[in-house]
Amino acid sequence: MNTEQFYPLFLQAAHVVIDSRKIEKNDIFFAFSGENFNAATLAEQAIDKGALAVIIEQQDYANPEKNIFYVPSTLEFLQQLAIFHRKKLQIPVIGLTGSNGKTTTKEIIHAVLSERFNVQYTRGNLNNHIGVPLTILSIKPEHQMAVIEMGANHQKEIEFLCAISMPDFGYITNFGKAHLEGFGGVEGVIKGKSELYDYLKNNNKTIIVNENDPIQLEKTEGYSHKITFGKEDSDYQFDLFSEQHFVGLNYKNQKAVSKLTGEYNFTNLCAAASLGLHFGIPFNYIIHAIENYTPTNMRSQIVEKGNKILVLDTYNANPSSMAASLKNFITFEGSKTIIIGDMLELGNESEKEHQAILELAQNSGFDEIITVGKIFRTVNHSQLSFEDTPALTEYLKANTISSKNVLLKGSRGIALEKAIEFI
Ligand code: ATP
Ligand code: MG
Repeated sequence: MNTEQFYPLFLQAAHVVIDSRKIEKNDIFFAFSGENFNAATLAEQAIDKGALAVIIEQQDYANPEKNIFYVPSTLEFLQQLAIFHRKKLQIPVIGLTGSNGKTTTKEIIHAVLSERFNVQYTRGNLNNHIGVPLTILSIKPEHQMAVIEMGANHQKEIEFLCAISMPDFGYITNFGKAHLEGFGGVEGVIKGKSELYDYLKNNNKTIIVNENDPIQLEKTEGYSHKITFGKEDSDYQFDLFSEQHFVGLNYKNQKAVSKLTGEYNFTNLCAAASLGLHFGIPFNYIIHAIENYTPTNMRSQIVEKGNKILVLDTYNANPSSMAASLKNFITFEGSKTIIIGDMLELGNESEKEHQAILELAQNSGFDEIITVGKIFRTVNHSQLSFEDTPALTEYLKANTISSKNVLLKGSRGIALEKAIEFI
C-alpha cells in the first residue's frame, strides 16, 4: 500500500483519527502501536464502528478485503499521505512558529481570515509531527485557506514540518527563551525557528515580518517577498493602545480592542491584521474579528471571580513569556498577588532563569509572591514556596488571598489551573 494507491479512499473519508475512541462513521483510523496495543481487535472494532479504512503496522492483522491495510510505519504513512494531499491543494497555507504566542496568533489569524474565507486551522495545540499532518489531512475542498501552527523543541523539526505543510506565507511570532534544553541556548532557538524562513526563501514564498523585532529584521533583510509591519515605513502601521488591561491596535484612526491582556499580544494582533489587509479584508471586518475573539484557553485570559480579577496564563511558561506576563500584571490597579509555577525544559540555565524571574518579581512591587514547583523552591526559601499545585491547593483551602488581582502563570506540567477554584 502506498500513498498514491490509498489517496482515492482518503478523499472519501470524513476524518482521519488516531484515537480509537473517536472513530465515527466513514473515518480513517491510523493505529499507532502502543504498549498494550491489540491491533487485531482494534482494527476489527474500528471497522465495526463504521470506519472506512484502518492503517496498521502489524502485518499479521492486515485484511485488505475489510480495508485494514498494513504499512511498515503508521506515522510515516500519515506524514507521506499529508504531503501527497498538500501537493494537490491550491489554497494559500499560512505557517506559524516561534517561541511564544503561536496558538494565540493562529487563533486570531483564523478569526480575521474567517471574516471572508472558509479557513481550516490547527485545532488546539496539535503542532507537532503528528498534529501538523493531521491538520493538513483535515483540509477539505471547501476550504479556501489554512493556518498551521508548527512547534519545535529541537533543530530540524521546523524544517521537517515545513516539508509537510509547505507554507506559502510564514510568520515567526518571536525568538525567546523556550525549550532552551533541546535547542541549545538562545542562538539555537534562533537557528531552529529560522528554518521556517529558510523554507520560505528557498521556495520564493512570503514572509510576514515584524520590523520592530531586530532578529526578524536581520534574518529577512534583502528578501523581497515580505509583508511588513512595526515601523513607520512598513507595509502596515499599527499603534498600540490598552483599554482596561485589554490590548488593542489602532489602524488609520480606527480602533480594535481585543479581549486579550498583555502588550505582547499586540504583535500577535498586528500579524493577523496585516494578513487580513493583505488578503483584502476591510478593516472594519478585522475589528469585528479581533473584538469577538475570546480566549478560553488559559492563555492571556482575564476572568472575574467574585470581586477578584484573575489573570490566567497557566497554559505554559518560559522566561520570556513569564517576564512579559509579570510586566503586564504590574500595570493592574489595586493589590496584586502572583502565583508563578516552574518553567520547565530549561536545561543548564534552569536555576539561573528561575532566580532571575524571582528577582524580577521581588523588584516589581507585588503584594504577595507565591511560587510553585521544585525548581523555584531551590531559589525561593520563603514560606510561600510550594513543591507542587496540590501543596498550593492545601494552603489555599486554609488561607485566603486578599489581593484584588491574582496572576497565575506556570508551565503545563505544573497545572496551576487546578488551584483556581480555591482562590
Ligand atoms: P506552545 O509552545 O505551548 O504551543 P505557543 O507558542 O502556542 O505555546 P501561546 O499558547 O499562544 O504560545 O501563548 C502562551 C503564552 O505566551 C501566552 O499566554 C503569553 O503569556 C505568552 N505570549 C504570547 N504571545 C507572545 C509574544 N508575542 N511574545 C512573548 N510572549 C508571548
Ligand atoms: Mg501552541
